[in-house]
Amino acid sequence: MPSLVPSRASRPSDDPIFALNREANARKAKGEAIVNATVGALLDDDGALSVLPSAARAVREVPEAEWAAYAPIAGTPDFLRAVCDDLFATGGVDPSLRAAACASATPGGTGALRHALANYLEPGQKLLTTSHYWGPYQTLADENARGVDTFRMFDDAGDLDVGALDAALGAQLASQGRALLFLNDPCHNPTGFSMSMDEWASVAEVLDRRGSQGPVTLLSDMAYYAYAGREPRAFMRHLAPLLGKIGLLFAWSASKSFTHYGLRVGALVACEPDADARARTEAALAYASRGTWSNCNRGGLGAVTRLLTDPTVRDSCVAERESLKAVLAARVTAFNGAARGRLRYPRYDGGFFVTVFADDAQERAARMREMGVFVVPGKGTLRVALCGVAESDVPRLVDALAQ
Ligand code: PLP
Repeated sequence: MPSLVPSRASRPSDDPIFALNREANARKAKGEAIVNATVGALLDDDGALSVLPSAARAVREVPEAEWAAYAPIAGTPDFLRAVCDDLFATGGVDPSLRAAACASATPGGTGALRHALANYLEPGQKLLTTSHYWGPYQTLADENARGVDTFRMFDDAGDLDVGALDAALGAQLASQGRALLFLNDPCHNPTGFSMSMDEWASVAEVLDRRGSQGPVTLLSDMAYYAYAGREPRAFMRHLAPLLGKIGLLFAWSASKSFTHYGLRVGALVACEPDADARARTEAALAYASRGTWSNCNRGGLGAVTRLLTDPTVRDSCVAERESLKAVLAARVTAFNGAARGRLRYPRYDGGFFVTVFADDAQERAARMREMGVFVVPGKGTLRVALCGVAESDVPRLVDALAQ
């Protein structure tokens, strides 16, 4: 007799991206010249994981007892303060956001997305996001008995389709009485698109208007914010006026910013100007943590707190990250140089990924695989993880994509 409940009995057995990565690595190990543009971790030009030395040192220097002990359910207060300061206390952000902020530690940004879904939508309701989106949004929604709705991401000029967002928000407010919008910016995964400040201004205008019709919450998924080409907090000037009118959430993650993907450190930050509502938010998030992973790993929280607050370590991290950003920027420039006019893809000026549009995406990816070039096919798209491709391999990658 099968013991799994029917709704869980036919889950896919393997994440397709990790399966492709495994095949690419196995063929490489046998001596084939492989270009592996599948996995979202920053690799150096020799294919080794790029690790910020200062971050690695801070992790090593965490005392044993810190690794061994439980953390408070919501996370250590120092960590929560450091994350809120990191988001709002620099970059000219309006101080009203910092004053209204509360946070809960989560295992990576993924945990923050999970808590947003569970606390800002009822079971059966759907989050709203762009038509191109990071696949685990759907997994997280499934796992939490929620769904995913999308709006067309790009208009005919290749800009964010704010009209489509407006219509979709209106439809959601009519059908489910509330809306939770996930926007992954800057350096959107999987397209590489970063919204302009004009686009943020238009989005804010829509949120302001729709927020008067029912509860609307914006979650800014900031997984890649440390790799933005511009000041990554600049968009917050459009959010500050929305404080108290709509819900403002931020999914913060140490995974990419500090190149410690496996440390599993992140936070969900919520901005609530009303002290009572803020206390209820903190309680709801802590309760959700208790009911899922209990608490996060204290050693990881300690290491990341130090990375954010110790001026010497923080400055070293910034400098080391700048050199990683330069490596990535060289790949992006090489890609744009080789691909412009040959491939269809969105505005792309930085970030771990870019998406190439192709009607025959599945067949094209299969042909590319035969040539030893691995990308991730979607519906009419090929996701290219430039974060894992040496600059010298970019011309071969683009040739394969263009065939
Ligand atoms: N959001 C996006 C768009 C991502 O690509 C990722 C990681 O790949 C995350 C969130 C969360 O990452 P983590 O849970 O490792 O912090």
